[in-house]
Amino acid sequence: MKVLELPGLEDPRRADVHEWLQAHPRPSGRELAEAGLVAPHWPKPYGLEADPVHQLMIDEELRAAGVSRPVNPIGIGWAGPTILYAGNEDQKQRYLLPLLAGEELWCQLFSEPGSGSDLANLSTRAVRDGDDYVINGQKVWTSLAHFSKFGILLARTNPDVPKHLGVSYFICPMDTPGIEVRPIIEMTGAHTFNEVFFDDARIPAANLVGEEGRGWELAKVTLGNERISLSGEGALWGRGPTADDLVDVVRRGGGLSDPVSRQRLADVWIEGKLLGLIRLRTVMARLRGQQPGAEASVRKALADDHGQHIMGLAKELAGTEGLLVESGPFGDTTGGWGGGFLFAPALTVGGGTSEIQRNIIAERVLGLPHDVDVEQGKAWAQARRTAEVAG
Ligand SMILES: Cc1cc2nc3c(=O)[nH]c(=O)nc-3n(C[C@H](O)[C@H](O)[C@H](O)COP(=O)(O)OP(=O)(O)OC[C@H]3O[C@@H](n4cnc5c(N)ncnc54)[C@H](O)[C@@H]3O)c2cc1C
Repeated sequence: MKVLELPGLEDPRRADVHEWLQAHPRPSGRELAEAGLVAPHWPKPYGLEADPVHQLMIDEELRAAGVSRPVNPIGIGWAGPTILYAGNEDQKQRYLLPLLAGEELWCQLFSEPGSGSDLANLSTRAVRDGDDYVINGQKVWTSLAHFSKFGILLARTNPDVPKHLGVSYFICPMDTPGIEVRPIIEMTGAHTFNEVFFDDARIPAANLVGEEGRGWELAKVTLGNERISLSGEGALWGRGPTADDLVDVVRRGGGLSDPVSRQRLADVWIEGKLLGLIRLRTVMARLRGQQPGAEASVRKALADDHGQHIMGLAKELAGTEGLLVESGPFGDTTGGWGGGFLFAPALTVGGGTSEIQRNIIAERVLGLPHDVDVEQGKAWAQARRTAEVAG
């Protein structure tokens, strides 16, 4: 379904990228980054200050030319926007281009064994010592830490103020002595996650992003950053098979005779269509200049359940052949059904759990009361006001 008619080559913005791609048919990550095509919505010189229509035209041109952007999800998606927002000029110049070019991978050192949903509860400490901060503590579920050159690190610089006010945001070189990365092997058999231990790891004070103690605000910038996109209908956070793919496999296999399975397949297909409409609504709002709000949580809550429904049904329809890891319905081995099924439980945990999404919807969409101890909330608000007046 073609949802948007974008301007053609008569639009000079599309013509520019079209010509550039003709001159650079196989661009390197560095060339794409220097041309501003990796994150075109970023300000110049790193992006093109592209509005949503311009971004979508660039996406179309890249797709038509068979050109993929560098893969550096945490760097480009989260670290970069936060450095743009609060980093100083030296930090921007040092980190942004290699990050966009995919030359230096990044990871996110936020979650800890005792603080995931309640991230502000984190206990990893950063203590200033001369020109360094000395880091001690432990992070967990750190995707890609074993490949990463840098990590965005949240650590507590002041334990004596309300928890949201004592956190700072750092750029952490992952080869710093005193950092140990230990693998966590997932039930898919893959190694994506790690535990990361800090034992008197010294990182330069120049790697503090923004002001000491204001890291919580930056963490929210990091987590709230989402680039406009029409793609990403796959069941696994935008990747992987879609409900339509599952229906296609069933159709090719001759259909289903069992009424319960037929009903479930129809339900999954309807969910997919509803999600498509929600995604389109979000894009339309961005085209009108509106920022994404709590509807992102509605979409995430539905999409994560939907991913599990697709993968669960596919595995069930595979019958006994489903015991073979890659096999899907009718023996299909091309859809990534096996790995997807094993990964799907992670959907409702990573990036904010289903319950947390529902809390956000309850508070910001339905206007229900906040889910924290009221006294604690008041103390936090009071401390923040005091800090703002003092600062
Ligand atoms: C695929 C994947 C990749 C990840 N990558 C990274 C990464 O790169 N870096 C990183 O720092 N972290 C990463 N994480 C960790 C992720 O951010 C946390 O798992 C997530 O925030 C939940 O925290 P937790 O696991 O500590 O669970 P908890 O917060 O302990 O939650 C346990 C259960 O309690 C529920 N719960 C908690 N609080 C509430 C509440 N207030 N109301 C109702 N229910 C509640 C939760 O929904 C959940 O069901 C990743 C996780 C996944 C699955």
